[in-house]
Amino acid sequence: MKKLYSFATFLIPVGILGLVSCLGTSAQSTTTPTTTTPTIPTTTTPTTPITSEALCLERTSKFVAAGNLASSHCEGSFLVVESNGLSSEQMMVGITAWQQQVPLPQPYIGSNAFKIPLLPVAALTPSKTSGVGAVAIALNGVPIFNPSKPSQGGNQEVYDPKNDPKLIGELDSCGGHSGRGDDYHYHSGPVCFLAALGDKTGGVIGYALDGYPVLEFHDAGEKLPSNLDACNGHDHDGLGYHYHLTEKAPYVVGCFHGKVEGAFQPQTLHLRPPGGPLQAKITALTTGADGWTTVKYTYNALEQSVSYQKVNGCYQFRYPTPALPASPGSGTVNYCEKK
Ligand SMILES: [Zn+2]
Ligand SMILES: [Zn+2]
Repeated sequence: MKKLYSFATFLIPVGILGLVSCLGTSAQSTTTPTTTTPTIPTTTTPTTPITSEALCLERTSKFVAAGNLASSHCEGSFLVVESNGLSSEQMMVGITAWQQQVPLPQPYIGSNAFKIPLLPVAALTPSKTSGVGAVAIALNGVPIFNPSKPSQGGNQEVYDPKNDPKLIGELDSCGGHSGRGDDYHYHSGPVCFLAALGDKTGGVIGYALDGYPVLEFHDAGEKLPSNLDACNGHDHDGLGYHYHLTEKAPYVVGCFHGKVEGAFQPQTLHLRPPGGPLQAKITALTTGADGWTTVKYTYNALEQSVSYQKVNGCYQFRYPTPALPASPGSGTVNYCEKK
């Protein structure tokens, strides 16, 4: 019952959305000349500006309902989402194949914020996603990437299970990990965030870069979605097109159903050289009262750790000494943000 109610809050705005996309293309030609009966002076609202506002309100209210973990507002026909990219759930624990990156706060603000079309427009043909950069933003402000990591430094547009971070142990228990810019992001369903979110947003967990909503694993009534296309989306019950989380690849967004021109993926920090693969199992990530954040892990049956703290715009890192294979450093190293 609760579920159905919350889903209805999703249905209404998307209904408006569908209406607008119709009106947007064929308003003049389809407005039937109903001049016969001078009925009640229907306040035929000029739909476009009001609808933009309605869509803005609908989307920004989801971020508020999710706990205001990310801040959202609208600029023209775009939804703008600002965040530091960090999750308030447990990050990194559960990784068994670590790339030696850590989750640092990211500057996804101002001109480096996410920009997503408010009014999604279906593309003639779906476009591929790449393994570099976000394909969607979750309501907690954490970016969501496609199901592949970049191979040999190139974009990963074609899915290969060998490069699926989830299947090779690179994701934590919440579906995320940190990338080469020490940028935390999800590659699969953000299950811990979803559990914290509950029914607060009518099943919406975020928005894809083409503007379509991303819904949780189920449709209304706890039904698993059927007939998902290659992009992991479908359209039913007048809801309009939407993506779903799935247990199997592509997990979130397999390709873009809509146009992504104009959408903006923020840049990440590039503070320190990227690490390489280490068959380490991360067991804890904690921040102490002294301000130091520590990643604990086991490697070759030994307990190891990397700690870091920000002081005056610079990060001080403490690495194991001697350096572990493919480590970005050893001992104490300072990294300062480039102006
Ligand atoms: Zn990644
Ligand atoms: Zn659905």
